[in-house]
Amino acid sequence: MRYDVLIIGGGPVGNYLASLLAGKLDIALVERKQSFGGKACTGIIGAESYERLDFPKKAVVNSLRGAVFHSSIQSFEIGRKSPQAYVVDRKVLERELAKRAIKRGAHYFVGTSFMGFKNGKARLQHLKETFEVEARYYVGADGIPSAVAREIGAKSNAEFLKGYELEVIGEFRKDFTEVWVNKEVNPDFFFWVTPVEEDLARVGTFGELSSLERFLRIRNLKPTSMVEFKAGSVGFGWRMPWVRNNVALVGDAALQIKPTTAGGIVFGSICAHNLARAILNYNLELYPKSCAEVMKQVSFGLKVRKIFKGLNQDGIEKIFQILGSDDAIEVIEEYADFDNHLRTFKALAKKPRLLTRLLMISPSLIRALI
Ligand SMILES: Cc1cc2nc3c(=O)[nH]c(=O)nc-3n(C[C@H](O)[C@H](O)[C@H](O)COP(=O)(O)OP(=O)(O)OC[C@H]3O[C@@H](n4cnc5c(N)ncnc54)[C@H](O)[C@@H]3O)c2cc1C
Repeated sequence: MRYDVLIIGGGPVGNYLASLLAGKLDIALVERKQSFGGKACTGIIGAESYERLDFPKKAVVNSLRGAVFHSSIQSFEIGRKSPQAYVVDRKVLERELAKRAIKRGAHYFVGTSFMGFKNGKARLQHLKETFEVEARYYVGADGIPSAVAREIGAKSNAEFLKGYELEVIGEFRKDFTEVWVNKEVNPDFFFWVTPVEEDLARVGTFGELSSLERFLRIRNLKPTSMVEFKAGSVGFGWRMPWVRNNVALVGDAALQIKPTTAGGIVFGSICAHNLARAILNYNLELYPKSCAEVMKQVSFGLKVRKIFKGLNQDGIEKIFQILGSDDAIEVIEEYADFDNHLRTFKALAKKPRLLTRLLMISPSLIRALI
């Protein structure tokens, strides 16, 4: 079997790439699992990016207008009238993208694992049967533990964290997500409570499972009211190179993930778009260069993460005082962009009073951000 492109991994990014290329080139996709979805993921995607990327509406299960931020002693709210983010059903998202790709002519091999490269061909395994597929280009869209990244010798200096996400019954405000920052409960990350319905929310964090258990008690949610529990992982940093010879990495396999929120679907899909363009130009070298904007956002996110890790809860409380002030809320409500945190930060930094107060918290790092 020979194809123009073999995509390894049918998560959102692999399926999205397949949908972009199918009908223009001969595409095949292999997915190890026997059906799509099932990964630990809250499924929050910025509304503007969702429309721009033309993701399927059918996958949207809720719309969010804003967020309520809680520290251990304060809280403030940022919101707009229109939806700022969607909550999606990952299984529906992946299946709908796969359907699009298949209808445009892509060949799908589900329940089939990539085992490695041999003599320029991909070795695949379905049940106990092993076979080879040859392609002009290979794409590793196989997530954090990427076997393709390993095969091409991509190296990483990233910080890898375990993440937990559960669905729990309770009472929630349906159009606002909650963000809880309490370093005494979890020094590694914030907690989120993202409603799917008025009586159902996805709750999660990255770090130790025991901190999530403590948080559930603080938030008055019962572990015994859980209807789903999943674990996964995330990597904040770089895994390079993204291209070696005729092989490219995309999505989580290339760590195209926002270090501020751990969201990876949008950055991965933007990069998939750029990769599709490079493949259609038969020049993979164009791909990393065309992802400069995503790299800039990741780089900014890594600096924010460094600041977050260096702060104790007193520092978090100081940041909350600044971001929860009327001046800051006005700026954030006007400029906040779910997938462009750099833009929001720049808008805040243009207000001298806010900037001076931020500089007092971590002068060198805030200067580095500017
Ligand atoms: C707890 C948690 C919450 C998250 N919440 C959000 C969120 O709200 N919003 C957001 O944008 N992101 C979120 N993320 C991140 C998001 O899940 C990832 O960024 C996203 O799944 C990346 O998509 P992908 O297609 O690159 O990789 P994946 O979704 O990991 O897909 C990779 C696919 O490759 C397949 N595969 C792996 N190895 C092989 C192989 N050898 N052969 C064949 N197939 C293979 C896998 O089975 C999988 O289907 C969260 C992550 C975690 C852990």
